[in-house]
Amino acid sequence: MNADVVIVGAGPTGLMLAAELRLAGVRPLLLERQPQRRDTPKAGGLGGQILELLRYRGLLERFEAACPGPGLAPRFPFGGVHLDLTQLPDPPLHALPLPQPLLERLLDERTGELGVDVQRGHEVIGVSQDEAAVTVEVRGPDGPYRINARYLVGCDGARSRIRDWAGIGFPGTTYPEVNRLAQVTLPDTVTVLGNGDLDVSSPRFDGAVVTCCRLAQGWR
Ligand SMILES: Cc1cc2nc3c(=O)[nH]c(=O)nc-3n(C[C@H](O)[C@H](O)[C@H](O)COP(=O)(O)OP(=O)(O)OC[C@H]3O[C@@H](n4cnc5c(N)ncnc54)[C@H](O)[C@@H]3O)c2cc1C
Repeated sequence: MNADVVIVGAGPTGLMLAAELRLAGVRPLLLERQPQRRDTPKAGGLGGQILELLRYRGLLERFEAACPGPGLAPRFPFGGVHLDLTQLPDPPLHALPLPQPLLERLLDERTGELGVDVQRGHEVIGVSQDEAAVTVEVRGPDGPYRINARYLVGCDGARSRIRDWAGIGFPGTTYPEVNRLAQVTLPDTVTVLGNGDLDVSSPRFDGAVVTCCRLAQGWR
């Protein structure tokens, strides 16, 4: 066997799983198709029970210190709703405004400290299994190769090919709407309103961009 467990995908799920398995004495191999860590803005922070789990692992302080803005706060956007729990004497939920690229960097550092073997630029292109092992077909920088593992875990995101290859269905329905998100840089002249929203009254911006700005602003 080349590894106890092959994890496909070095997003937050794959990185966290790799660290947890390492702590349990397992030898994971993490394969990520992107050659470099991503800096695409995605999630704006963490909230709810995940923060308690990070505290339990002794990671919360370190993650809080890495936040670009103020740390733990009992107010955060939940979907389109701004939850503000500041009036409660002992708020049950908090949020940590840690942007996803920073989160991935911290998790990447942690897997490094724990000695996880992370191979970037290695894309899984096929999977087969028998009763003894999983055979993983990989396309790496030096060409295709195969590895064997006792287990394989698909942490390869929303359009998981591992899920398809494993024959795991995706029952349910999807929304008919198409939502587009954009990252924009606004000039200093844009007004920040009292409630934290941005007044983007220029005709160059349409409603979708204003909504996006509001969501991003909501973490502050
Ligand atoms: C624009 C945007 C905004 C978002 N905002 C929020 C938010 O505000 N709050 C929130 O909670 N969530 C948000 N999300 C969702 C959040 O980003 C995802 O839930 C999170 O990234 C899921 O993590 P993951 O590790 O499961 O998957 P991913 O982050 O998708 O990681 C999967 C990894 O697998 C790799 N991979 C895929 N296929 C293969 C393969 N065959 N071989 C090797 N590697 C492979 C990919 O390159 C990727 O690195 C947002 C997402 C987007 C796109």
